[in-house]
Amino acid sequence: MAERRQAFVIGHPIAHSRSPMIHGHWLKQHGIDGSYDAIDVNPTGLDAFLERLSSGEFVGGNVTIPHKEEVWRRVARRDEAAGAIGAVNTLWMEKDELVGGNTDAYGFAANLDAGAPRWRGAGSALVLGAGGAARAVLHALRSARIGKITVANRTAERAGELALAFPGVKPAGLAAAQSLLSRTDILVNTTSLGMKGQPPLDLDLEVLGDDAIVTDIVYAPLETPLLKRARDRGLANVDGLGMLLHQAVPGFERWFGVRPEVSPDLRALVVADIEGKR
Ligand code: NAP
Repeated sequence: MAERRQAFVIGHPIAHSRSPMIHGHWLKQHGIDGSYDAIDVNPTGLDAFLERLSSGEFVGGNVTIPHKEEVWRRVARRDEAAGAIGAVNTLWMEKDELVGGNTDAYGFAANLDAGAPRWRGAGSALVLGAGGAARAVLHALRSARIGKITVANRTAERAGELALAFPGVKPAGLAAAQSLLSRTDILVNTTSLGMKGQPPLDLDLEVLGDDAIVTDIVYAPLETPLLKRARDRGLANVDGLGMLLHQAVPGFERWFGVRPEVSPDLRALVVADIEGKR
């Protein structure tokens, strides 16, 4: 009989992670004899965990805050997305070597493919925020060959660093975002503004063109104030939950051999959790 396949998500803290719910749903749906568990690994415990990995105990897993960059430095090889983004969120073994990938850009693009497929024909994008998630979004937008990309951030120097890392991307301060909107086809929020407990983004969407697409990668609440404003204006708007769900697909397929689906059932399960109904 084949060995039970075990996967994980490591982070610190990790109790809040919704990844076990997503992968657990797929394991059950496909009747796979496997497991996916959240493991709290603090920075001083990372070495020991990576050793455990090389012993073959796991088929692979996910990596989240605060380990994404450190694991990026420690893997034997990286896929193209992880190389460009500078962070690893997915691990697997290949011929006894630990390989690191990044599926966040895939998740961002797949979410827009599902929610606003014409995004791939857009001419310009404005990305708000210059943190870890912005790097994945910039990689996705460049891979889709969006011609003009600007990254605007409160700390303008961080936008400048991203512009250096992603050639062709223009940096700006967050205060300039409003004046850039009239020339923006896709507006992406990657700042934590609009998240539960945080103030909303201070932007007037009236000047966006009627064909503009607005997406927020913040997904708690599901409809952020930015997305509500876009909906009220009749603009295409895509919430951030799909990015979280889609980024999980390539890892599951790699570890368990089945490409899972981001179905309405899965979405409803996670929405209920976000809304505190489980
Ligand atoms: P991060 O690295 O901490 O970056 C946070 C960003 O938000 C920075 O650009 C920061 O600007 C900006 N920011 C924070 N507070 C601000 C304020 N008061 N005013 C203006 N800007 C502010 O975080 P991250 O990992 O990129 O994640 C960002 C958000 O995306 C989080 O809400 C996270 O939950 C969400 N996320 C969603 C997904 C998904 O799958 N949907 C995936 C990853 C992340 P400064 O540089 O000036 O500090």
